Amino acid sequence: MSLFFDIKRYSINDGPGIRITLFMKGCPLSCLWCHNPEGISAKKEKMYTRKKCISCRTCVEKCPQQALFLTPDGIKTHPGKCTLCGTCTNVCPTKAMEISGTEYTIDYLMNEIEKETIFMDRSEGGVTFCGGEPLMHPETLLELLRRCGKMGIHRVIDTTLFARPEVVTPIMEETDLFLVDLKHMDSAKHRFFCGVPNELILSNLCMITDAGKEVSIRIPLIEGVNADEENISRSAEFLSTLAWNPKTVHLLPYHDIAKGKHEKLGTTYNPANVPMDPPSEEVQQRCINIFHSHNIQTIIGG
Ligand code: SF4
Ligand code: SF4
Repeated sequence: MSLFFDIKRYSINDGPGIRITLFMKGCPLSCLWCHNPEGISAKKEKMYTRKKCISCRTCVEKCPQQALFLTPDGIKTHPGKCTLCGTCTNVCPTKAMEISGTEYTIDYLMNEIEKETIFMDRSEGGVTFCGGEPLMHPETLLELLRRCGKMGIHRVIDTTLFARPEVVTPIMEETDLFLVDLKHMDSAKHRFFCGVPNELILSNLCMITDAGKEVSIRIPLIEGVNADEENISRSAEFLSTLAWNPKTVHLLPYHDIAKGKHEKLGTTYNPANVPMDPPSEEVQQRCINIFHSHNIQTIIGG
């Protein structure tokens, strides 16, 4: 079962033109700075926004499992009692309660995508699949890609590339552009910051560039994680060896906007407590210079 946690229309940062972006739930990575923590678990999750809650107790009274109770800190859930039935989200008058994760049929999703074709056609946009990690849902993803391809819709995947090559290969054939995050060149550090090593990611990146696919590389630039000279130099050296054109890297300066989402989920932002900071102008310029010295252009931002 493939769950989606968002469908965003009129998106302009997820590939060329105006796009519809479908967010698929579940990711094998757990980056400390993840902007979409509701996309990490492949299961449904309840989210609660304290500042939206007016303490009306409607959810407490309607919950069939008696799983909720009101405290001075807002609504809490008894561990193990909630069945994610969704009643509380339906009765909450302020949308303080939400469930992240909805299953849609392929036909429903294609219908939603088709509704946006007027904007796509005028802007040379299309559809983008991101997450989470879309490659965790290969059957659903492949079917959607094939059907979009038959309609001539431009198809983008925003991916970590952390998947077996036999999963990536058929999807590669049905994808027009890959947006790939390069987080760290040192595999042990990649495992520490993101939960998995990087060898599979790098070998898949070689595979898709060797196949002549269009790829846009994005580097989340984070002081304390990956913005140091050694890592950026290794990144530039590696990327300069790929059969990849145009060689352009998007540098995405760190920000911590995901903190609020962790509060909603009841999870902890940056649980390893790693000091993470946005890169200074000086550090950004140093990174730009390193990439330029390897004949790689840079763009700050998505
Ligand atoms: S999702 Fe259902 S079971 Fe869970 S807290 Fe809400 S009403 Fe109760
Ligand atoms: S129904 Fe909504 S607003 Fe009312 S107590 Fe529950 S979460 Fe808060």
